[in-house]
Amino acid sequence: WANAPLTLRDIFVTGRAHGEKTFLVYEDERASFEAFGRATLALAENLIRGGVRPGDRVAIAMRNLPEWPVAFFAALLAGAIATPLNAWWTGPELDHGFTDSGACVAIVDEERWARISERRDGYPALKRVLIARAPAAPGTESLSDLIGPLSAWGSLPEGRMPDVAIGPEDVATLFYTSGTTGRSKGAIGTHRAGASNVMAHPFSAARAFLRRGEPVPVPDPSAPQKVGLLSIPLFHVTGCFATLVPNLFRGGRLVMMRRWDLARAMALIERERCTSAGGVPTIAFQLLDGMAAGTHDLSSLETISYGGAPAPADLVRRLKAAFPKAQPATGWGMTETTATFTHHQAEDYLHRPESCGPALPICDAEVRDPEETPLPPGEVGELWVKGPIVVAGYWNRPDADATVFRDGWLRTGDLARIDAEGFITIVDRAKDMLIRGGENIYCAEVEGILYDHPAVVDAAVVGIVHPTLGEEPGAVVAIARGAEASEEELRAFVAARLAAFKVPVRILLHDEILPRNPNGKILKGELKKLFL
Ligand code: ATP
Ligand code: MG
Repeated sequence: WANAPLTLRDIFVTGRAHGEKTFLVYEDERASFEAFGRATLALAENLIRGGVRPGDRVAIAMRNLPEWPVAFFAALLAGAIATPLNAWWTGPELDHGFTDSGACVAIVDEERWARISERRDGYPALKRVLIARAPAAPGTESLSDLIGPLSAWGSLPEGRMPDVAIGPEDVATLFYTSGTTGRSKGAIGTHRAGASNVMAHPFSAARAFLRRGEPVPVPDPSAPQKVGLLSIPLFHVTGCFATLVPNLFRGGRLVMMRRWDLARAMALIERERCTSAGGVPTIAFQLLDGMAAGTHDLSSLETISYGGAPAPADLVRRLKAAFPKAQPATGWGMTETTATFTHHQAEDYLHRPESCGPALPICDAEVRDPEETPLPPGEVGELWVKGPIVVAGYWNRPDADATVFRDGWLRTGDLARIDAEGFITIVDRAKDMLIRGGENIYCAEVEGILYDHPAVVDAAVVGIVHPTLGEEPGAVVAIARGAEASEEELRAFVAARLAAFKVPVRILLHDEILPRNPNGKILKGELKKLFL
């Protein structure tokens, strides 16, 4: 492994060397690795000329456009910290992302610009705004004026690698993750953390062969190109580090969709002969429906992988039965572990369908009791994890750092058991969070907004079970004596302040304070039953 990448710049260099092969596909447009490399170097140079210095934050706020990877790697090559912001965030959520990160440049699409144009004066650090795929609006610049349209990236000058020192321990990324305290926290990812994923996954895949006593197949450089359908937003670590970055490194084609849509996804799988698809369990369920419909040829699929939320144990068998040629794979991970921390596939997964697999070979996992003492195999406790892919801490949040990071270990807030062979099974969450189709919703954040409503004196958000999304948010609120508020009014109040996926689908009005245990914690288990 003399050529093992230590930084995301190394990955860019390796990726560009795949040359004229197609890298990015977006609708009917496509760009080669070389074209991507030229556009990225052109933007990196422009950022530096515009004043970006090592350690500066460059915010990226757009849906999955081919300009996203260009912006991401250009920021990194300039020595800056790439700071992806959630494209579903409303104005107030974007305010937090911009002011907390102190981004000096924002690379956005038109929709995000519409959300922040009137708020921009509240972001004192922000000096430049580049809009992708649109003419410049007043006070902004057009990204297309700098790098041209996708079809012309290949005709840009070859470009030069910026003369910026970048080391493995330098900060590369700030991905925002929600938190129990209500506000999103930036997870500080180093270059080493980002680059380590692409090294760890081939070893994980090799493990399945080693366990069977079979020789590990050596990748054949002349084998047909792998083609991955990207269904996860790139502002999530799984979209970026489990899909974009490995495809760049290994010369895989990345097929991007404007937005997830099953019919469109199937048409793209057929047209591009995609070898992998997936994302979150909800998407795997939809692919099962798509296969059953039989409208498209999905026979090119070799892998269907998903994670980010609990997957029902029968999913792997159903996929295996519906897609005889495709291997189901799953994993567990967090923003704080730079995407997938475990990997599970092949016979191991079929025989342990409730597990999310063992830790990557370069990482360690432990289950601990509330006193933080490690527990023996099979016992349930909180999952603690360690390894080069674990982030260095939270941006501007020493309080959160002290509770979550300890002696190189990360406390995950998930309850799990680990068997004697190292297979991890997530059994529950200790943290107050629910997952709607792979999108995390921290109850405290939604509760905090409900509390801001003048009629609300008490609020609790709980998960309502949903057959394909996993969970949806429901709320129970107590209304102040003499005050009035309807369910519709409260939902609209939340919708004006939080991204649509976080808005409770049902709000039950209660005229008393909510039931609590002797320590004052709301009995959420009891409240959940109200939605059954
Ligand atoms: P992103 O949503 O940004 O892609 P992510 O889902 O990888 O990131 P987070 O949003 O930080 O990471 O959420 C991590 C949490 O999601 C975990 O702590 C766990 O509760 C849940 N989770 C992730 N993967 C699984 C899984 N395979 N099984 C059960 N729960 C999971
Ligand atoms: Mg998630």
